[in-house]
Amino acid sequence: MNTDRYEILLKGGHVIDPKNGRDGVADVALAGGRVAAVGPDLNPALADRVVDVSGLYVTPGIIDMHVHVYHTRAPEGDPEGLSVVADAHTFRSGVTTAVDTGTAGARQIRHFKQTVIDRAKTRILAYVNIVDQGMLGDFEQDPRTFDAELAAAAVEAYPEICLGIKTAHYWTHEPYDELHTPWAAVDQAIRAAELCGKPVMYDFWPRPERPYEDLVLKKARPGDIHTHVFAQQFMTIDDAGKVKPFMREARARGVRFDLGHGAGSFWFRNGARAIADGFPPDTISTDLHNHNVHGVVVDMQTTMSKMLNLGLSVQDVIARSTANVAVSLNRPELGHLSVGACADVAVFTVQSGRFGFIDCGRAKIIGDRRFECQLTIRGGQIVYDIGGLSAPEWTAAPPAYWTLPGQPLSVAGSGATLSKP
Ligand SMILES: [Zn+2]
Repeated sequence: MNTDRYEILLKGGHVIDPKNGRDGVADVALAGGRVAAVGPDLNPALADRVVDVSGLYVTPGIIDMHVHVYHTRAPEGDPEGLSVVADAHTFRSGVTTAVDTGTAGARQIRHFKQTVIDRAKTRILAYVNIVDQGMLGDFEQDPRTFDAELAAAAVEAYPEICLGIKTAHYWTHEPYDELHTPWAAVDQAIRAAELCGKPVMYDFWPRPERPYEDLVLKKARPGDIHTHVFAQQFMTIDDAGKVKPFMREARARGVRFDLGHGAGSFWFRNGARAIADGFPPDTISTDLHNHNVHGVVVDMQTTMSKMLNLGLSVQDVIARSTANVAVSLNRPELGHLSVGACADVAVFTVQSGRFGFIDCGRAKIIGDRRFECQLTIRGGQIVYDIGGLSAPEWTAAPPAYWTLPGQPLSVAGSGATLSKP
């Protein structure tokens, strides 16, 4: 019999752990920052703290694989800065791992690590921008700044953080027109990725001399990721409203498709049709940044709710926000609740009602369900508990104290003064 102590026991929840094929009521015990046990009727006497999560969904910590959180450095011409503070936006959606996609280039990875990643409670991973300075200045237009060797070296220097290479926002832009060959950004990103043996994540803008079909059928390699799959610029849906065959061909080749909602890249007119035709994105992500946190993205749970109301099941939304993401990231240790895994856990309700959701084309759907994160645990620590699931009723709580330096303690509400206990 197991007599080890549990620090936290999540009791009676509906556990959805797609990687392990678990979808039903079970207890989850955490100890030492790890998942200690998962199963029916774990003994509450072994737990320092029992949290009743009956009627709620218990999932692996959510992984948002497209965000911008390098907030200590604002690009020129954007005084507010592009990036958000990770911890302020992640835990309230159950997100315990966030992937910064190319805000930093190779020249900033060390600074990004020291000023943001090492200080955040959220686990932050990164794709390194093929542009040496990342998303700064002229915003990834000048091919002379694409440095495959440097980007690959940065990935290799920080393997615990860096997942691969990002290319983005490469469109025609004076004064670089002559330098601006159609595939320069994609080709250099692939070259960097080959040097360090990692995938590329593509944010792509098609042009007649640079068709999207060629990206996903010829350029992208198995394991590479196209983010923003339901953006308006991708002609993925035919006149009959069906997904064009080349998309399934690309998926069969091993190209991964990520939602990457963003301020402009999720159109229900594409996404709803694709999902109805059996082509959901492999992974669900927000592309959260400072210019979409108050619309249209808001947060990960809102993005997950959109997918739910477009027809995916609760289980499928969780899979595409946890286990599937870990596959795209090549991080098999993440996205599941196996015994021994890092104790990153989210607890959700799925509310019923009438809820509107908008897309990047200012169109809406009216849905009837919505994810609401109730509790988030990161590395075994409760970091978000909006409804007090882990707290006692106030009447059962110990006395409250307030004090000034050198003063005796007062018991709130009692009029009494105590000496320090
Ligand atoms: Zn982005």
